[in-house]
Amino acid sequence: MPERTLRVGALYPELLNIYADRGNLLLLERRCAWRGIAFALTAVSLGDALDPEAHDLLYLGGGQDRDQALCAEDLVATKRDAVHAHADRGGALLAVCGGYQLLGHHYALDAERRLPGIGLLDLHTDRGEGRLIGNVAIEVDLPGAGGPRVLAGFENHGGRTVLGDGQPALGRVLSGHGNDGRSGAEGAVRGAVIGTYLHGPLLPKNAWFADWLIATALGIAPGELAPLDDRLEDAGHASARAAAGRR
Ligand code: GLN
Repeated sequence: MPERTLRVGALYPELLNIYADRGNLLLLERRCAWRGIAFALTAVSLGDALDPEAHDLLYLGGGQDRDQALCAEDLVATKRDAVHAHADRGGALLAVCGGYQLLGHHYALDAERRLPGIGLLDLHTDRGEGRLIGNVAIEVDLPGAGGPRVLAGFENHGGRTVLGDGQPALGRVLSGHGNDGRSGAEGAVRGAVIGTYLHGPLLPKNAWFADWLIATALGIAPGELAPLDDRLEDAGHASARAAAGRR
């Protein structure tokens, strides 16, 4: 019998699943299984109630504007208080791209249409001219991660995200566009709540970050997780970094 279980709640997995969001969840499942940690995945979708005590990690993926609009209304109407309560008790949350935008105050599609956000992170997003697309590398300094580390990934967003004055970014852009293509900031962090534009196979490309999430969600230090043979993962990470460097 596994001693521990990582309880993951995937929000709107059938709508917010653009670019490998399912793969990110699968990677979490595998890295837990290899260590004898049980993995319980629950889908929480349109109209479902969210129990703020039920999950160690919430996952909110990316989506096209159309799918985001459906989720935005539902998130605000039926899950906002529970997501806040989850975060306030230290629960972890990873929100990617479209999901990240929904954690802010709003996502304005144009002058008339504004999707509401749940205000968990102090930021807002407005649609800009053209899309910000390409490989990206950022430097992040997460508690317990043993100093600054690199996250490498891929971004593709029309939204430009502006952080509030006291809102820390997730990281500093080394190459790529980040939140708005000019501030040098990428993503946002509040305790164990992480929002980022890095999608595609974010977790497979950054196994160290997957472990940080697993450990943080379980309330232990990343160093307490049993080490795995990460030669393949490390090579994948190096190649994602190199791809970002070649922009
Ligand atoms: N629809 C949002 C944007 O274009 C998010 C896109 C995404 O999740 N890839 O900014």
